[in-house]
Amino acid sequence: MIINKLQIQLLINNQEVGTTTYTEIRDPGCLTDIVGEVAVGNALHVDQAVNSAHQAYQAWRKTDVAERSSLLLEAASILEADIDTYVHIIARESGMLPPVVRAEINSAALLIRNTVEEAQTFFEPKQVEDADSWVSLERKPIGVIVGIVPWNAPVILAMHKLAPALICGNTIVFKPSPHAPLGISMMIQAIAKLFPPGVINIVHGGSDVGSALTTHPLVRKISFTGGAIVAKSVMKDAANSLKRILFELGGNDPAIVLDDANLQDIMPKLVTDIFRRSGQFCFAVKRVYVPQNMYNTFFDLMCQAVDQFKIGYQLDERSTFGPVNNANQYTYVKELIERTKRSGAKIVELGQILEPDHWNEGYYLRPVIVRDPDPYQEIVTCEQFGPVIPLIPYRTEQEAIDMANDTEYGLGSSIWSSDFERAIRFSREIEAGMTFINQNGSSKLGAKHIPFGGVKWDRSRSIRGIL
Ligand code: NAD
Repeated sequence: MIINKLQIQLLINNQEVGTTTYTEIRDPGCLTDIVGEVAVGNALHVDQAVNSAHQAYQAWRKTDVAERSSLLLEAASILEADIDTYVHIIARESGMLPPVVRAEINSAALLIRNTVEEAQTFFEPKQVEDADSWVSLERKPIGVIVGIVPWNAPVILAMHKLAPALICGNTIVFKPSPHAPLGISMMIQAIAKLFPPGVINIVHGGSDVGSALTTHPLVRKISFTGGAIVAKSVMKDAANSLKRILFELGGNDPAIVLDDANLQDIMPKLVTDIFRRSGQFCFAVKRVYVPQNMYNTFFDLMCQAVDQFKIGYQLDERSTFGPVNNANQYTYVKELIERTKRSGAKIVELGQILEPDHWNEGYYLRPVIVRDPDPYQEIVTCEQFGPVIPLIPYRTEQEAIDMANDTEYGLGSSIWSSDFERAIRFSREIEAGMTFINQNGSSKLGAKHIPFGGVKWDRSRSIRGIL
């Protein structure tokens, strides 16, 4: 099914609710195309949605895990059943390549099933007794959860919140990102129909709606994925009513290449892990540390690999590199590259432009490699969240470790080496929630067993953090 123009409403108590304001969602790869429009809510809608979730909670909390599990398994199947429609809409509204969206939806279905599997033992009460007393430890739901998600991976991030909240007997109110609200809302609306009214609700909007949710007195917990700046406001807003918070925030993942790495072997994977989703990924590699004596060879090889990218419209089957998602991100990354140029670091713009005549019709940026930056200049220390990567030379292992750790970010990291034992030893020196070897991303096994999250500013702990 191909849908050309969509209008997405709020979802309150399983009713679609229209509002007086609608925002057009344009295709970031072709800005003249409107993919759909979305109803924008306000504080009154937030109050209605939270109250509906609170009412629904009174009965939903008493359902048993078997019933919740079977509904969630149906939800996973719904994602897969209509996957072609979702892939098309999300690719158009987000700028992501269709295979990337498809893989994300499949991972989201897997995540739901993993959560259900984990729940089968998670809720077993533990009872202990001695001569004087008897103790029973039982896990209980906590009430209404708010899920706030960004635009760059809307499906997996929403399901990170939905599956754990519901399996525990909580109810949920979502606020999708205004930059990719259509596909994820269609999915959540389809899933919501499986559940009693009020268990799943959606209110669209920006920071005002976000703030109305995070200050609402009936909300017990906030599960927020986004950047550090917004996270600070969320923390302040949540403080008045002392809500629990789960954060999954941005990253500045270092990749450290050791001097025994086979550069030809690692380069394709490293380049993929830097530039996936045009660099707009929380645990993409965001800076690379390279031994001084390998620097020139490494730089040349990386330039060759990056130059293979075909930059173009995300639905053009020839494209391997799509546009960035929105005007803010586009301007921010462009200006960052300009400031880096002015700093004296060498900038190389690469990749093949498929349709030069259409270049200015979307948020297109070429992938950029930054040579010889100062190790502490902005392009190295910020979360660029776009297609630009700094390469920093190092002389000693300790220097590489110190530079990698000298940051407030602590989400992911990676070590690239031909010697697995050495890489493991090295990885234990890195201050990050996750350190990968010869990749910067999870396998199916990792997705099931690694508690997703980080240290320092990246405070999240678990993909199943609400459990
Ligand atoms: P953002 O922080 O600007 O926005 C995130 C969400 O918060 C959006 O839905 C936004 O509308 C909402 N929001 C804005 N102001 C709010 C407020 N005052 N109160 C409540 N909600 C508010 O992030 P973004 O630009 O959408 O996404 C990019 C960021 O997300 C990057 O930093 C990226 O690293 C991070 N991210 C982290 C993870 C992770 O799992 N660690 C995954 C993906 C993205």
